[in-house]
Amino acid sequence: MQHRIPIDQIGPRGEAMAAAVQACVHCGFCLPTCPTYRTDGQEMDSPRGRITLMKEVLQGDLSLEQAKPHLDACLGCLSCETACPSGVQYRDLISPFRAWANAKSPKPRLQRLWHRLLLATLPFPNRFEFVARLGAPFKWLAPLLPNKLAAPLDLLPSSLPKTEVLDEKYSPTAPPRGRVALLAGCAQQILAPGINLAAIRLLKAVGYEVSLPPEQGCCGAMAWHLGEDSSAVKMARQNVDAFSAQSYDAIITTAAGCGSAMHEYPLILAGTDRHEQALALVGKMQDVCQFLAAKSDLTFNATAQPMNVTVQDACHLLHGQKVSRELRSLLHRIPGVTIVESAEADMCCGSAGTYNLDHPHRAALIGQEKARHLTNAGAQLVVTGNIGCLMQLRAHLRDRLPVLHIVEFLAQHLSDTHK
Ligand code: SF4
Ligand code: SF4
Repeated sequence: MQHRIPIDQIGPRGEAMAAAVQACVHCGFCLPTCPTYRTDGQEMDSPRGRITLMKEVLQGDLSLEQAKPHLDACLGCLSCETACPSGVQYRDLISPFRAWANAKSPKPRLQRLWHRLLLATLPFPNRFEFVARLGAPFKWLAPLLPNKLAAPLDLLPSSLPKTEVLDEKYSPTAPPRGRVALLAGCAQQILAPGINLAAIRLLKAVGYEVSLPPEQGCCGAMAWHLGEDSSAVKMARQNVDAFSAQSYDAIITTAAGCGSAMHEYPLILAGTDRHEQALALVGKMQDVCQFLAAKSDLTFNATAQPMNVTVQDACHLLHGQKVSRELRSLLHRIPGVTIVESAEADMCCGSAGTYNLDHPHRAALIGQEKARHLTNAGAQLVVTGNIGCLMQLRAHLRDRLPVLHIVEFLAQHLSDTHK
């Protein structure tokens, strides 16, 4: 078919976008795995429908305004990529499309202001801590507020943990067998500072020196998914420089969303002077569970009581990085733990970056359904690998089931032989 406007010529990301469009054979295998299609049953709210919409808008056959509500409603969960037998790289299309669309036609005023507010706070731990500590005592106001203002309050814990300034370097007790760098994350440092500390403890236990390059910053995931291109590029450049300045065996992430976004740095930085560096960086990126699961000498103490644990796969680990069995293989090493699976474990929990702040009503419906499946799994604990999922699950499970980041649970049971 002749394109009236060749998609592959739309800027430096055009080739990737065109490849994604052309790979789709419209088979529809992705439809039942898409949370928005399952909720609405509308073709335009399915992956196949969205690919067609983006293609038509890019070619100039459809107005952006007609397509926008359906594209805005996409969670970016990438479940469609896993389901697709043709290997459509949906991520190569949706985020570049949002950046392109944003440049073509600015967002409505209120949405623009909201996104600016998010981008001015969440990526900066100090600012976010100030806002979160200010908001936490007012959680009780949430039911009285409109959805959009209630959502951030609902997601906050009622009291924030004490934060800790991380060192630039942590060394194991014996001479190190290698050296890794750790991305500290933004909101995670404030909402659950124990995650980084647990990861550092586990990495040291397997003999690695852990560096936290002080020049690192926000991974840029939020900006990228909101179509805020210049912010995403700036953040990606900063991290490429920070993590390329020294040589590491691996660059470790503990948040699925951050890891997945960093794997997209070559696309974010396409056409810039950091593209080659971004490709090299991706070759070293690993989620903390992926790295630890490969260390056979990592052992654990038995739990005090036998316990059933269920894993909520974060979409950006399961679909974004194809990391899933590693979490289960680590849990299997803890004597006393039995893994139980919940129904629809591979479906998004509704967190999806800032989706639960941007689309609180739909995210809450998805979150409630997820909480129902997790409660029915017969587990005493839920573990996950992403701070966003952790907060969303805690908000919807309330007191029904505890939720931990998997590294927190692993560190609690770290074998005495590692001490
Ligand atoms: S499964 Fe893949 S090829 Fe089939 S409609 Fe969905 S995206 Fe297109
Ligand atoms: S990323 Fe998720 S919500 Fe978006 S089209 Fe794919 S499956 Fe549906």
